[in-house]
Amino acid sequence: MTDLPTTMRAWVLHGKEDMRLEERPVPSAGPGEVLLRIGSVGVCGSDKHFYFEGRASSDVISEPVVLGHEFGGTIVAVGRGIDVARVGRRVSVEPLVPDWTSREAREGRYNIDPSQRFFGVPDLDGALQEYLAVPAENAHDIPDSISDDAAAMVETISVALNGIEKADLAMGARVLVAGGGPVGLFVLQLARAKGAGRIVLVEPQDARRETARGLGAETVADLTAAGDDYDVFIDCTGVASVRHDGCLTVRPGGRVVFIGVGAQDASVPMPAVIEREVTIHGVMRYAFTWPKVIAMLEAGLLDADGLVSRTLPFGDALDAWTAPLPTEVKTMIRVTEAG
Ligand SMILES: [Zn+2]
Repeated sequence: MTDLPTTMRAWVLHGKEDMRLEERPVPSAGPGEVLLRIGSVGVCGSDKHFYFEGRASSDVISEPVVLGHEFGGTIVAVGRGIDVARVGRRVSVEPLVPDWTSREAREGRYNIDPSQRFFGVPDLDGALQEYLAVPAENAHDIPDSISDDAAAMVETISVALNGIEKADLAMGARVLVAGGGPVGLFVLQLARAKGAGRIVLVEPQDARRETARGLGAETVADLTAAGDDYDVFIDCTGVASVRHDGCLTVRPGGRVVFIGVGAQDASVPMPAVIEREVTIHGVMRYAFTWPKVIAMLEAGLLDADGLVSRTLPFGDALDAWTAPLPTEVKTMIRVTEAG
């Protein structure tokens, strides 16, 4: 095994707009765990909500926490019960830790288990630190063709994949996607891979619309310009008015999929939903997606690296929050450089 240092650096969020670089002991791998040297960590919309608002969706910061739930790394040590041959492997980590005895997990839907834990939200420190121990089964081996940044984005792609699975697309389906951030851009790539006929993406920012066109979508700047009669509407914005108006864009019998978190409430146009039997589906994280996403990346079906708009060295991580780029898509923090 590699010689490990005894201390490491960690970015610790103490409260609203108060994130500090601190020295902590390097953790050890407990039974059933692997210890990772962290590679790249993606910055997510929810990380911004935690930093600026002290909460994201229903998770609230009450104690200091290390953010970072989109990550991969290299296994540097293994705990009891784990094959030592895994040391040296590059992995992408699923940050969701279910209670496998829960009713929902036993029904195959561990992502809606209310007792699940999650790396990088209050009560389980995430990957904005140099070393982190995770359950061995959450660490999925990746081939060399997948970069550290793409390894971190398997998480984002997984959210999009769960949304696409909920959308239940038929070949040739007409799909409207709201939001050209990373999730929306992966939703459109997955919809294409699934054989969607027409994909329209709504996004106010020019640069993001251009990226979406490069990935094969038609684009409009505003939902009112998108028209209607879509088979599926997928919201990746979390904006209340977009959720409402999106329900009006699907044809009778269509589906509406809500991925974006954000506004805690939104109104739903009930006649449009009831009289036209529109199906509304929520999307909570993901279940069993890592092997599928890794296989798609390996097959070259998805462009992940092309969505990275900026990489920051670990010491400058705070810039992701305090100095956002106007044309940001995905910011990556390189905790350790790929080598
Ligand atoms: Zn995220």
